[in-house]
Amino acid sequence: MQRAGGRTPQSFDRVLSSMCTEPHPAARRAAERFLATNPGDPASYPAVADLEAEAIGYLGEITGLDDPTGYVASGGTEANIQAVRAARNLAEGSAGSDGVNVVASESAHFSLRKAAGLLDVELRLVPTEDGRADLAAVEAAVDERTALVVGIAGTTEYGRVDPIPELAGIARSVGARTHVDAAWGGFLLPFTDHDWDFSDADIDSMTIDPHKVGRAAIPAGGFLVRDRETLDALAVETPYLESASQASLTGTRSGAGVASTVAACEALWPDGYRETYERARADAEWLAGELSRRGFPVVDPELPVVAADISEELFEALRGAGWRISRTGRGELRVVCMPHVTRAILERFLVDLDRYR
Ligand SMILES: *Cc1c(COP(=O)(O)O)cnc(C)c1O
Repeated sequence: MQRAGGRTPQSFDRVLSSMCTEPHPAARRAAERFLATNPGDPASYPAVADLEAEAIGYLGEITGLDDPTGYVASGGTEANIQAVRAARNLAEGSAGSDGVNVVASESAHFSLRKAAGLLDVELRLVPTEDGRADLAAVEAAVDERTALVVGIAGTTEYGRVDPIPELAGIARSVGARTHVDAAWGGFLLPFTDHDWDFSDADIDSMTIDPHKVGRAAIPAGGFLVRDRETLDALAVETPYLESASQASLTGTRSGAGVASTVAACEALWPDGYRETYERARADAEWLAGELSRRGFPVVDPELPVVAADISEELFEALRGAGWRISRTGRGELRVVCMPHVTRAILERFLVDLDRYR
């Protein structure tokens, strides 16, 4: 194992609550080869710029977007910030800059709070119904100052999918834009019958993270837009670069994320990702059944995240035994069935759970 300052990275054997995973071997190799390239300066680094177009092509295919536009961001946080920024900039153009708002449900990822704080827009978080945005509450929250409605396709806590077409309809009714946050769910949802992508609804922008279920190396987030106009609303002039403008939030960016996204998609789209999804779903259902059989209240898994109500003492004992687990906002144990979480690992987890309960 490689060493840095005498340290070795953790193994993934006991990591149960992370949305990151072991990169695909081809993605790891590609990341290393393109480590010293900068897609933020495409005129100096044309090879990685070409690869980025390929990456966006794959992400477009996965999300039902013909003629896709976008870029490989540092992660879901940057992509969500950019969605809010584009919506705010475009609303400023038409309605004046004061007091635009963004509407999402309480299950929105905390990156939206960062976006709202940075960009000085009001974030209106509405209640959920069984973990999904309550449409009546969304309808009541939007107004003529709403710049963006955000739907979540795979919530971080429970893996729930918001009713995206209905949210897009509400957004349109007040002249707002629609963003879908599929940072985690984007590589799982193509194999389900959910309506979540650009072909299902009139979505303007989307977040989909290759460095989560996509098995690219960190940092690789995806920011996709339906129309060029959205990227133009983000672009600033770049006087000392040969390219005329830059739409990304960061300047220098890692070519590792771009190259490993292409390598992972070449290796896994679509069959490998389908197998990943099917195995994860089967494991999530199995784990939910085992926990429920032991008397723990379980939140029914939709996408493969299992949330179960266990005692504080049991949670701490499992953490003490080395399991990397975390809790939902309501305090439930949360297990994310990522590609590295095998049935054998879950079986070992249950052995420890039975030992301490
Ligand atoms: C992980 C996640 C994010 C944030 O992405 P980072 O890559 O951690 O910045 C945003 N939204 C959702 C739904 C997520 O699961």
